[in-house]
Amino acid sequence: MDNKVRGILIGRMQPLHKGHIQVIKKILDEVDEIVIGIGSAQLSHELKNPFTAGERVVMVTQALVEENIDPSRYYIIPMEDINYNAIWAAHVKLMNPPFSIVYSGNPLVKQLFEEEGYEVKNPPLFDRVNLSGSEVRRRILNNENWQELVADSTIGVMEEIRGVERLKNLSVKEISDL
Ligand code: NAD
Repeated sequence: MDNKVRGILIGRMQPLHKGHIQVIKKILDEVDEIVIGIGSAQLSHELKNPFTAGERVVMVTQALVEENIDPSRYYIIPMEDINYNAIWAAHVKLMNPPFSIVYSGNPLVKQLFEEEGYEVKNPPLFDRVNLSGSEVRRRILNNENWQELVADSTIGVMEEIRGVERLKNLSVKEISDL
């Protein structure tokens, strides 16, 4: 194995937005390679988790191409949730390229990796009021400008998978389930 310093960032990316892209670039300033974990990979077609792991992989891949980031510097790995928080960090270790630094702003993620002995860093948040997956989904449902929050390539993926239509259908369905 080589001596590359690798960091990992795990996010649901529902959908990928400009905050994720900025934090990925920031991490790449600090490490040789980044492992980008697509969290809750098993979930899709829900209001909070509308997109499949595969669709999210395409969003990340195309956005990083758009940013001209060298593809040899990242790995994009779908990560399913498991029911056991206490062994989740070990599970992530098992399923990913070796990494030594964990980047996360999520308190549970930070705690689980710290307890496992990893170095954990809290990356800066960029415009968290607007740059969040829930804000992108809210704007889509309210016919507001969600496009400004995501990469141009993500707008293209959303058209390809008819993402806006899917989210709106899910909102009708989940309200009717109440
Ligand atoms: P997320 O997409 O909300 O955020 C991921 C990361 O992106 C954040 O930690 C933050 O560092 C960065 N980020 C987000 N918005 C940003 C912004 N505006 N500016 C800069 N950086 C920004 O994802 P999340 O909810 O933290 O993902 C954690 C994943 O880990 C989930 O899928 C969760 O289910 C999974 N998990 C699973 C288990 C288990 O299976 N037992 C346990 C813990 C966590």
